[in-house]
Amino acid sequence: MHSFRYVGKELFCEDSSLGALAVKHGTPLYVYSQATLTDNYRRLHGALEPLDRMVCFAMKSNSNLAVIRTLAGLGSGFDVVSAGELARTLAAGGDPSRCVFAGVGKTEEEIRYALRQGIYSFNVESEPELRRISKVATRLRKIAPVAVRVNPNVDAHTHAKITTGTYENKFGIAFESIEKVYARAARLPHIRLRGLQMHIGSQLTDVRPFRQAVEKVAPLVTRLALRHGLEFFSIGGGIGIIYQDALASGSPGWWSGPKGKGILTPESYAAELVPMLRPLGLRILLEPGRFLTGNAGVLVSRVEYIKKTGKKNFVIVDAAMNDLIRPAFYDSFHEIVPVTRKGGAMIPSDVVGPICESGDTFAKDRPLPKVGEGDLLAFMSAGAYGSVMGSTYNSRPLAAEVLVHGKKAAVVRRRQPLADVWGLESTAPWQ
Ligand SMILES: *Cc1c(COP(=O)(O)O)cnc(C)c1O
Repeated sequence: MHSFRYVGKELFCEDSSLGALAVKHGTPLYVYSQATLTDNYRRLHGALEPLDRMVCFAMKSNSNLAVIRTLAGLGSGFDVVSAGELARTLAAGGDPSRCVFAGVGKTEEEIRYALRQGIYSFNVESEPELRRISKVATRLRKIAPVAVRVNPNVDAHTHAKITTGTYENKFGIAFESIEKVYARAARLPHIRLRGLQMHIGSQLTDVRPFRQAVEKVAPLVTRLALRHGLEFFSIGGGIGIIYQDALASGSPGWWSGPKGKGILTPESYAAELVPMLRPLGLRILLEPGRFLTGNAGVLVSRVEYIKKTGKKNFVIVDAAMNDLIRPAFYDSFHEIVPVTRKGGAMIPSDVVGPICESGDTFAKDRPLPKVGEGDLLAFMSAGAYGSVMGSTYNSRPLAAEVLVHGKKAAVVRRRQPLADVWGLESTAPWQ
């Protein structure tokens, strides 16, 4: 489910008008729905009821403190990828003992910090990292709980920049080497082998790669659990969401595939995976990012100009690739809809931002109703990998973010004041 729908001609987030929010807080503006976050978490957690499970929200998809707080309040754990993300969890009232720490490049300082905070597990990506964790833990006289990330070499059939489970990419340790790595890790001081982890990619819209990976890894994790007393198996994140027709598909709200084929919902995901996972007798961790946050957020932007050239109708908006980089970076599709619904014919339009790059294009030849200067547009499904990937390129301040809860709305990130864009800079003393 998501909570964005037209009430009359106006697009609402829950019981709050996006138009009114844009007027009050300015644009570009990210708007998040607390009800959608809550519903997404509950539905996924609920579908996996037969398992001893822990959902660890992958906060790299959206690390706003208010989003973290919402999920922490529901009992979520967190998948963090830096000391900064762990510190954010604490700042938002999250529980470090429900945090797993992923990533291929953990520094000694990050390891020290995570050990002191008492995280649930390090998800380890290499043997040098295992040795480093052991060394740091020994110095601190702490036991480091670890899981090694297995690369199951299963093709997730997703975009090249977000596939992670084949030997072509930098993540994890090859399936064939894992048992030897565990045997060596078991001899390292101050290491507790707590689990096994995998993550095969992002935006998966079909349950089959998940099933293949679990099928392949299940016998391995069973052997490792017996030998090393593992407690958990993390099956990673990667559950995809709807980007096309995102608004129309408000309910059921998850991937319904081209014309309803290949439905991946929390229920179908659970129906396939629970029967394979339950017999393992282990705690199952999930690390969903996009699934929890993607359809819980939109980016609202104002039309600055309509520019007609010989061939094209350019709709120039005040949001840019620095606010939402996914179309430029991954060729991703975001549904774009007017905040005030329009009638009339659809016009093929290129929706572009003001940045001086041809890549600053949100959509090409997209049928849009006739819009004019000052109209508001909403980019749907922008809650994941949206604001977090923002930058100040072209000295554009970071956009504001608002969390909606029914009729209530709160600014959960102020628009960056312009002077803060260069606030860390100075001229050199000899100038
Ligand atoms: C990015 C990432 C996730 C979350 O991926 P989504 O596609 O957003 O669910 C989970 N686990 C790991 C290790 C990741 O790198």
